[in-house]
Amino acid sequence: MVQERNTKPVIAIVIPCYNEESVLNETSQQLNTLVEKLIRNNNISDQSFICFIDDGSTDTTWDKVEELHFKNNRIKGVKLSRNAGHQNALMAGLDSVYEKIDCAISIDADLQDDISVIESMVEQFNKGFEVVYGVRRKRETDTLLKKNTALIFYRLMSCFGIDMVYNHADFRLLSKNVIGHLKSFKEVNLFLRAMIPLIGFRSTNVYYDRKVRYAGTSKYSAGKMIAFALDGITSFSITPLRFITVIGCVLFISSLILTAWAFMVTIQHKSIPGWASTVLPIYFIGGIQLLSIGIIGEYLGKIYKEVKARPRYIKDIELF
Ligand code: UDP
Ligand code: MG
Repeated sequence: MVQERNTKPVIAIVIPCYNEESVLNETSQQLNTLVEKLIRNNNISDQSFICFIDDGSTDTTWDKVEELHFKNNRIKGVKLSRNAGHQNALMAGLDSVYEKIDCAISIDADLQDDISVIESMVEQFNKGFEVVYGVRRKRETDTLLKKNTALIFYRLMSCFGIDMVYNHADFRLLSKNVIGHLKSFKEVNLFLRAMIPLIGFRSTNVYYDRKVRYAGTSKYSAGKMIAFALDGITSFSITPLRFITVIGCVLFISSLILTAWAFMVTIQHKSIPGWASTVLPIYFIGGIQLLSIGIIGEYLGKIYKEVKARPRYIKDIELF
């Protein structure tokens, strides 16, 4: 039974920004107009605010945030001491607003996600949902490469048994309660879109069409995208490890059969064992072993990082 909320929620819109000087004015203006409309319509509390997280930008992003904050107190800012990456910047934002809100909505700075669905997100929250996922209906504005790599990525993740909402990125509403539980996940390698489903609670989707970037360029290069996908898989699934075990078993049984065959041939003096049957397996097994060690190394790397438990980010300045 979903319990409806009676009081107007305090919401925060959390926006990680890395070198986003060219979109900040437009983004803050559009979001501010939306928040004020929601306040006027009595959907949300007038304590609601917008919070930009400057993820160690090297351009004038932070100067812009400061300027916006001093002109309009509804706009807040947090500056990280260096570039911590999108996921960490987003978590820094959620941590920073946690005490002051009933729910937080995360969105990218580039206006690719349709901000008008924020209203439906809040509606769903008021109906009692604790997680509202923004889901892309189509990917028409993405390049062919991005579309296909994204498709392969989601397929791969589901093959590895990782529970993720298809075509949902990091545009979502989270209740204070869910953020509280998220904070108790102490892992350093954050992959929020797979972590949130692990937390549970009532969730629902709202759908929108993804647009092109308002200005500036994507901060996710092909290399960063691959690293992100690898991170997602190795942080959440042991299927690759199990795969090694399966290959190991198959190889072991095959090599036993091969040994028996070679033995029979030898004792019957029928033929001289060939070069291929001696040398090829050595190469083959050598290759598989190297691959296996590589994959195990990935996981060891993860354990190494987790054990060190480094801080996710270090705050430099806070404007509240
Ligand atoms: N971002 C960030 N830190 C980074 C990279 C990206 O905070 O190291 C932010 C970026 O400013 C944007 C969001 O993450 O608000 C998503 O990045 P982008 O739009 O470049 O990714 P794409 O939409 O191309 O996948
Ligand atoms: Mg984008």
